[in-house]
This record gives sequence, C-alpha cells and structure tokens, in this order.
Amino acid sequence: MAVTPNDPQYADCVRGLNTRYIGTPESVRIVNCTDQVVQVVQEAVTYKKRLTVISSGHCYEDFIFNPDVKVVVDMTMMNNVYYDPAMNAVAIESGATMLEIYKTLYKQWGVTVPAGFCYSVAAGGHVAGGGWGPLVRVNGLVVDHLYAVEVVVVDANGTARAVVATREANDPNRDLWWAHTGGGGGNFGVITRYWFKTPGATGSDPRTMLPRPPHDVLISAIAYNWSSLTQDQFTRLARNYASWHVANRGADNPNRVVTSYLLLNHQSNGQIGLITQVDATVPNAHTILDTYIAYMQNGVTATHVPLTNRMAEISPMPELVQARQLPWLEATRMLGTTNPPLNDPTYRAEYKSTFMRGNFPDNQIAAVYRHLTSTAISNPLAGVQFTPYGGQASVVDPAATAIPHRGAAFKMLWSAQWIDPAEDTKHIDWMRRGYADTYADTGGVPVPNDVTDGCYVNYPDGDLSDPNFNKSGTPWYTLYYKGNYARLLQAKRRWDPLNFFHHRQSIGTT
Ligand SMILES: Cc1cc2nc3c(=O)[nH]c(=O)nc-3n(C[C@H](O)[C@H](O)[C@H](O)COP(=O)(O)OP(=O)(O)OC[C@H]3O[C@@H](n4cnc5c(N)ncnc54)[C@H](O)[C@@H]3O)c2cc1C
Repeated sequence: MAVTPNDPQYADCVRGLNTRYIGTPESVRIVNCTDQVVQVVQEAVTYKKRLTVISSGHCYEDFIFNPDVKVVVDMTMMNNVYYDPAMNAVAIESGATMLEIYKTLYKQWGVTVPAGFCYSVAAGGHVAGGGWGPLVRVNGLVVDHLYAVEVVVVDANGTARAVVATREANDPNRDLWWAHTGGGGGNFGVITRYWFKTPGATGSDPRTMLPRPPHDVLISAIAYNWSSLTQDQFTRLARNYASWHVANRGADNPNRVVTSYLLLNHQSNGQIGLITQVDATVPNAHTILDTYIAYMQNGVTATHVPLTNRMAEISPMPELVQARQLPWLEATRMLGTTNPPLNDPTYRAEYKSTFMRGNFPDNQIAAVYRHLTSTAISNPLAGVQFTPYGGQASVVDPAATAIPHRGAAFKMLWSAQWIDPAEDTKHIDWMRRGYADTYADTGGVPVPNDVTDGCYVNYPDGDLSDPNFNKSGTPWYTLYYKGNYARLLQAKRRWDPLNFFHHRQSIGTT
C-alpha cells in the first residue's frame, strides 16, 4: 500500500514522535510481508530514490524523515510475535511494539525479552541499537538473546533480496547477525523480523527459551524538592547513585534485582525524582529496597517527599511514596505508559547520552548542577536521567555483540522536551552548553576513559559528528562502537556495498 501526498493519512505517516522531524517523501509504503519489502526496496534502487525505514518513529534524530528521502518503508503492520518452529525460536516482527511484545510473550509463555521501558518503541530500530531496559541488570540487553535476523539487503549489482543471519558459529551470514547486535538501525538493510532464544536454551518449548521476569515487583517513587537541596546535597545524591551502581555492577551481586532511575530535572520542575523497582520474589525484597533508599539518602539531609510533578517521561506518582507490590506485567505497563509525550502530537525534543564507568569528578557534577539551575531556560521537562546498567550486561565480552559498553555502571540521558518551534534554539543551546561544559576536559564529549565510556547509538546525537561540538579527536563512531567499528565497516562493505541504506550518522563503506 503506497500512501502519497494526496492521501488523507499522508500527514500521519510522515512524522516521527519528535515533531521536529516531519518528512516530505513521494510515498510511504505500508508493508505486510517480506516479499513486499523486497519489491519496494528493488523499486527504489532501480529508480535511484533514497529510502528509509520507520518502525515506530521514536528516533532522536532526523534519520528517517528529512528532505532527501523519497520513499519510506513503514513497518508498523508487520508486528506479529509468535513461536516459529522452523527456527525453533520466538519471532518478533519489526513493527511490534514493546507492550505488545511483553504481553504476548508473558501471557502465553511466562517469558520476556529484556527490552525498552517505553511501551510504544518498536523492535525494528530498538533491537538493532542494542536495546536496553528495566531488566538489564538481571537479564542483560535484548541483543544478548538475539538468535537471528531477517534483513532485506541490496547487493553490488543493485538487486534486493531477503537474507536470514543467525548467531550459529557456522552460519556464513553470522556477521550480519552480529551487525544487528548494536550496530543501529538504518545501516545494512530493512529488518523484517528478529528471532530470540537465550544462548544455551534447549528444547522446543518457548517457555524455556527466554528469561522469566519476576512475577511481582516492588515499585517506589519518591522525590526531593529542589527548594530543600543545596549544591552539596545535590552532588551527594548524584554521587550516591553513581557509587552504588559502580559498587554493585557485578553480575553476581545480590543487588542486581534493583532497577533505579534518578531523574535530575531542571530546577524549574521543582523536584528531582527517584523511581526504584525491586524483584519482589527475592527474599528480603523490602529490606533491599529500604537499604538502597537509605544509601541514596546518605549525607543528604533533605527529606524525600511524594513524587507530585511530571518529570521527563514520567507522570506524577504520589501514591508510590510507599512502595507497592504489583504483578510484573501491570507494573511494566504502568511505568511504560505514563509517558505523556507519547500521546502529544506537539512534542519536540533534544537528547544526548553518556555511558558512565566511574563516579563524577568535581568539575563534571558541578557543570551538571550549573546547567540544571541555569536561568537560561525555565523548562520543567529538561534534565538528566540516570538509568542503570551493569549486572548481566557486564558479563558479555565487548566484542561478542556490536554494542561495546559492557563496563558501564549506569548511563545518563540528557533530555529536553518543549512544544513551541520558536523555542527550539533556546532548549537545544541549553543542552549543547551543558554537555560541552560537563565534558570540557575531553573536547566536549564523554570519551571512553575511567569515568565516561562514550554514547548510546539508540540515543543518537548528530552533534557527535560535528567538529563544532565534538572537539575530542574521538570520532562519533568510536563513541558509539569503540573497538567494534572496524567489524561493522566490514559488514557494511559486504551487505550494503552501494551504501544504499544511509543517514547522517550511518556506518560508511570506507
Ligand atoms: C520516549 C522514548 C523512550 C525510549 N525508551 C528507550 C528504552 O527504554 N531503551 C532503549 O534502549 N531505547 C529507548 N528509546 C530509544 C529507542 O530505542 C530508539 O529511538 C530506537 O531507535 C527506536 O527504534 P524504533 O524502530 O522504534 O524507531 P524508529 O524511530 O522507527 O527507527 C529508528 C532508527 O532505526 C531505523 N529503523 C527502524 N526500523 C527499521 C527496520 N525495520 N530496519 C532497518 N532500520 C530500521 C530507522 O530508519 C532509524 O534510523 C526511547 C526513545 C523514546 C523516544
């Protein structure tokens, strides 16, 4: 089905979640099967039309919608999740969204994949970029369970075809599988479906092929009022989060069952949030939660209060000031769907990321504080979110998958959301200045070293390839892929020799 500018649904089909990116393609192709994808790609190659792919449109950059793009392949109708006996693995099509995936896997088989927090992100780009989520510390990244991928590629003669690549050691296409374990979407071809099976899983029962999430979790949401925090207290809170995650990053650590988010909002929000989930099925779950919160409170005299303000992607949750025990799927749905921007057709945003290996040096945390208290903006939806890493994610060899940040203890997501296009420059500048200032000692970006460890390709940031913003001498691809870039280049040369699939931060052929 081709949607063209004369169709009523065109406007709905040419926008990402972030309304800074609205496209003007000649057509959007709503596809239903792999053969149709092959056909559409072949046509675009033959007529030399630039083609991109959308699965959910959550991309942080303009990689899907920008003026050069003539054809967009829309994967939203390819959204099945099923057990595939032929592959003896669970198949997930690219357009399937997180909540649908979690529901289908859990209700039928009591299993899950440890993927993203937000319910409406789709598998297509998310998995290819590594796929981080709330179960990371117990189950690793989603790509740690990726068995195979089906991709429509274009060969050196300009012929489109579908290829299946598995992680089997003797698979001649294994490099294409590996390229999809963190290489990022939009690089090698159109991914039509993924198959999942945890390494070492045996038998043909989907109930034993993938991780079982805890059937119950404890959820706690507390906040600190900005008015009660001095700079010292703020610094202490941030450093407590960092030191806890550094000390507890081991896969065997009993605290791997703790998933905690510290939401450091701009001062105009009024609050800083701390949302924590603990596996309620482990012995002493309440004690683990209380001990964690006590650790966070260490040296912080400000008392915590109910989380009453909307922050980043979280709605107010004052009722969770006392931790509540909830069934896992319900809790996952609640946290992932309270996300107001996802239903806001006026949402505009800017993002940057940092993987963290160590605690904050004085200058970095002072710069974060300066920018969160800056009067250059008054934006309650601007801030820096700390999210957990480590645990099971840290036991995988950095070269075993394309995503290399296996030594990270946590990551930071810099984000700002606003509505009025006239305010774009103000919010983007605020973030650029904050990031540049925080990493002033390393050329304005978090280069891999003992403290920082580069950036997350699923949170792409065009500034990393702009010498005005990245003065580090460390190229954007090293920030995303570290030592894995050479292998990604090889895979690109083999599977997309014409560089048909590209965007402004895609893997090159040279
Ligand atoms: C509100 C929000 C919450 C998020 N939460 C998380 C989270 O919890 N964890 C996390 O890791 N990330 C998260 N992300 C980031 C998310 O993983 C990335 O935006 C990811 O790229 C989304 O993939 P998609 O397919 O849904 O998006 P899209 O925006 O459709 O695509 C993103 C990129 O992948 C390409 N692509 C998409 N589909 C295909 C395909 N089938 N074949 C080839 N290329 C394709 C696109 O061309 C584009 O370059 C979040 C983003 C947002 C906006």
